[in-house]
Amino acid sequence: MTAGSDQQRCIAHVDMDAFYASVEQRDRPELRGLPVLVGGSGNRGVVAAASYEARQFGIRSAMPATEARRRCPDAMFVKPRMSHYKKVSREIFRVFGEFTPEVEGLSLDEAFLDLTASLKLFGAATDLGIRIKERVKEETGLNASVGIGPNKLVAKIASDLDKPDGLCILFGSKIAATLDPLSVSVIGGIGPKTAQRLDGLGILTVSDLRSAPDKQLERVFGRYAARMRQKASGVDDRPICSHRPDQSISAEETFSHDQSDPAVMRRKLADLAQRVASRIRAKGLQASVVTIKVRKSDFQTYSRQRRVTPAVRDEATLLRLAVDLLTVWLVDNPGARLRLLGVGVAGLSDAAQLGLFSDRSERLECALDSIRDRFGEAAMRSGRPREQD
Ligand SMILES: [Mg+2]
Repeated sequence: MTAGSDQQRCIAHVDMDAFYASVEQRDRPELRGLPVLVGGSGNRGVVAAASYEARQFGIRSAMPATEARRRCPDAMFVKPRMSHYKKVSREIFRVFGEFTPEVEGLSLDEAFLDLTASLKLFGAATDLGIRIKERVKEETGLNASVGIGPNKLVAKIASDLDKPDGLCILFGSKIAATLDPLSVSVIGGIGPKTAQRLDGLGILTVSDLRSAPDKQLERVFGRYAARMRQKASGVDDRPICSHRPDQSISAEETFSHDQSDPAVMRRKLADLAQRVASRIRAKGLQASVVTIKVRKSDFQTYSRQRRVTPAVRDEATLLRLAVDLLTVWLVDNPGARLRLLGVGVAGLSDAAQLGLFSDRSERLECALDSIRDRFGEAAMRSGRPREQD
């Protein structure tokens, strides 16, 4: 359905509050009311999640552990328990499934829900929002913030406005009234650098962005200028693509020294793509979304993704797509020093029956997988140049 059609969509963005930290505080009462940081506490550790008590010290996720400790020496560091969070995430997504089958997971604790058809069953958008929050709380004891609007863009901005434990519903004239005074940085795709450039042009708010001259927008956004003006008007036609976040496979690695050499980055991608591809095949799956994750030395973290048809399951294609994504990212971030790289896939579905190996190279990869399983990763590395890390 497009924004121009008669029937308005009803899209929710649900985002758990300080998810990992809240799970730890739920499970360990002695942590409640304290500044809790989930993440690595070592020299190169990073905060994965900060409780609201810790945020009062200006601590945010993706901040280096050393910096977090400087800001709050009494903070309690807790080691992440990813498999546990995944379990809780499955409970949360089960609740989402009570409201609609159209659920697009963005991460373990965040999803878009298309509630358009559910409105008839459950009543007004506000009732639905309240009910979703109640059901998540009943099942998990955790707080979710919910934003509801006619599209993903508005819903995502709305869920953040009332956090924590928020509920914000934006339709009709409330959209412009709410979005207009906000900083341009609430719009997806506008990072700190772009926000700074816009600032230099006197474009500070969403309203400024919407009414800026074409020439200015083209200078900053190139061929995406018209799209950005649409976003600033709260228009967004993107559909909900149902897939669950636990149906994703990824591998990432922190370099032992920050890296700026693209050749080293590509070798790391090759390594990661091989690990991801072999896990996809081991589960008999194929993937329709390929992602890379890039963390710079200043801890700014980016992810870039691309939807692909036909779905991929072989290492060579996965690597080619990952390299393409990184190459485009490097154009925007020339000379960037990287701390971490990751490769992931989502949109997983059962692969076509084996035995119908599409080609010789895939047969070979399956054979290599089984050797890896028996003799370990190291056995298979000899053919590829190793980097220092
Ligand atoms: Mg969250």
